[in-house]
Amino acid sequence: MDEIMSLCKRRGFIFPASEIYGGINGFWDYGPLGAQLKKNLKDAWWQDCVLTPPIGPDGDEVQIVPVDSCIIQNPKVWEASGHVAGFNDPMVDCRESKSRYRADHVQVLRPSGDGHLMFAYVEGDAETASKARKAVDKYLSKNADAGDYTPVELTSIAVADLARVVGPHAKDKGTLTEPRAFNLMFKTYVGALATEDDIAYLRPETAQGIFANYKNVVDTTRVKMPFGIAQVGKAFRNEVTPRNFTFRSREFEQMEIEFFCHAEEAQKWYTFWRDWRMAWWRSIGLGSDNLILREHDADELAHYAKEGAGTSDIEYRFPFTAPGYGELEGIADRSNFDLKQHAEHSGAKLEYFDTERGELAKNGQPKGERYLPNVIEPSAGADRGALAILCEAFTPDPERPSKVFMRFHPRMAPIKAAVFPLVNKDGMPEVAGTLARALKRHFGNVEFDAKQNIGKRYARMDEAGCPFCFTIDGDTLNDQTVTVRDRDTLDQQRINIDQVAGFLREKLGLEERD
Ligand code: ATP
Repeated sequence: MDEIMSLCKRRGFIFPASEIYGGINGFWDYGPLGAQLKKNLKDAWWQDCVLTPPIGPDGDEVQIVPVDSCIIQNPKVWEASGHVAGFNDPMVDCRESKSRYRADHVQVLRPSGDGHLMFAYVEGDAETASKARKAVDKYLSKNADAGDYTPVELTSIAVADLARVVGPHAKDKGTLTEPRAFNLMFKTYVGALATEDDIAYLRPETAQGIFANYKNVVDTTRVKMPFGIAQVGKAFRNEVTPRNFTFRSREFEQMEIEFFCHAEEAQKWYTFWRDWRMAWWRSIGLGSDNLILREHDADELAHYAKEGAGTSDIEYRFPFTAPGYGELEGIADRSNFDLKQHAEHSGAKLEYFDTERGELAKNGQPKGERYLPNVIEPSAGADRGALAILCEAFTPDPERPSKVFMRFHPRMAPIKAAVFPLVNKDGMPEVAGTLARALKRHFGNVEFDAKQNIGKRYARMDEAGCPFCFTIDGDTLNDQTVTVRDRDTLDQQRINIDQVAGFLREKLGLEERD
């Protein structure tokens, strides 16, 4: 991971935010290559989800419309969604017992010796305290070298050491999650007075902006059930321990779809979205076994998803999670939880009148049915996606001058092609410049580079993950051919300058998507 991070810094993919001031924990900026990479990812998502959505399980194209809602909404939105009440104080969850504790209420009996088990209990709770004491005694009887056990606060235990802590109600070690602030929402004030009444929040997810606009979308478009509303945008969470590069940041971007359907169809749509989203990530370059789909166990489900069709995560094996995985996207049947909450809190009528359902009237037509739809939510992170793409692309190759190259899927590659004049004379820069400009119009980011020797230019492009480099040399001026170099195979061949655009179209996979 250190090597990937240093390449990201060196080549301008990702920088610490405010770096010249020492940075700010949990915030990252994207440099020229990273900004384009992340944009390619969001564009691909927008193209494939919103503009040319997939064919659904019934054989029809899925209906999706976009919104772009504000980061700051009426704070009542967050009361209705449960974020205001549910997001207080750092909490710790026990994966085994399903208990939840205030992090600052948990004490840990820690030994003086290194590498031994620790035992947690809840402050002021005699039962868990005695369980922990007994466990210590038993452990010491077998591991005398553990030393003296003394109580410390859980919050003082390093995250890596949590793997050795046995939770207050657990049998196994390592079942406590790290403390997470449950008021993850960033507060701000709207207006000049800045009183308590002016408090507002930066959205912790883009989803609620979709629910808040659900009625507007139904009333102003021709969408019919089932349909989805999509949004891409920033979300903010005051994470207690931002870490693992951009994986857990305090400002990040989400790509979310809320897909509304009748409860009877939730299972079908849940399965569809889960499988299609998995296939999508594979299609943009995460094709290896680093990508997995993990269906949640029943006892892992969020409160709103208990009755639903399921919840699953698409997870990637990042270098820092290996051999484990980290979530890229969650797909959940949120039942009608959110719309119900917003209907109750706002008083708005959010029920959908479905003219194609209900008993049949005398004329043989359905009478219609009024209902709050279920929601299937595929919620993806653009930053985690970009990070997975970076990790997957990173390919060490000691034979190359750059020692490493970025094997991006052509669709994700921030630079699609580079054009080099072999030397800066004899009209070569002019021919190369004209070709680069022509290619840019069709393929977006195409780089013209005339600096340094050709080997160094190839090395730069290898690190940037540019799939093809075209070199204009003396022969080009005579026979109109250029050398094209393939990033992955290092093959070089000569093609006619007029064929360059067609060659790129084919190689970048644009023809397949036409
Ligand atoms: P985690 O359990 O890792 O905190 P989550 O389950 O809370 O994630 P969701 O609320 O499901 O995440 O958010 C949907 C997506 O948003 C995640 O799959 C992830 O890609 C992205 N995301 C969430 N929190 C962060 C974060 N702090 N930094 C970067 N991306 C994030």
